Amino acid sequence: MTATLARPLPRPDAQTRPYWDACAQGQLTYQSCTRCGRVQFTPRALCEQCQCTDLGWHLSERIGTVLTFTTVHRAPLPVFKAMTPYVIALIDMKEGFRLMANATADVSQKIAIGSTVQIGFTEVNGMTLPIVQSLIEMPR
Ligand SMILES: [Zn+2]
Repeated sequence: MTATLARPLPRPDAQTRPYWDACAQGQLTYQSCTRCGRVQFTPRALCEQCQCTDLGWHLSERIGTVLTFTTVHRAPLPVFKAMTPYVIALIDMKEGFRLMANATADVSQKIAIGSTVQIGFTEVNGMTLPIVQSLIEMPR
């Protein structure tokens, strides 16, 4: 018997489907509240500050700064073994939201806290996921 190794993937729901559909088009989107202006990510039905349901969707320029990152050497699941070592990073995006994403193998070798990075996309089993695509500027 052969075990099927399937990478766990996000499951879009009513709140997150517009976000994942935009990713599939190569666009990174985020929400902001039309009443109080709060920027939020990941997508939700309500503003996390004022509970307003009138949220706007916006396009990110996909540029951010590395807040922190970790290098994964021991795969949490067998399906990730071939990817190790790989980097998971927290990125503070220019627009004011924080994104967690894996980094490409190339970026993983050079990433540093404070680096300016660009987010791109990678396709995994039909799902388009954001990924830290390139380093724009290293910290001084
Ligand atoms: Zn609000």
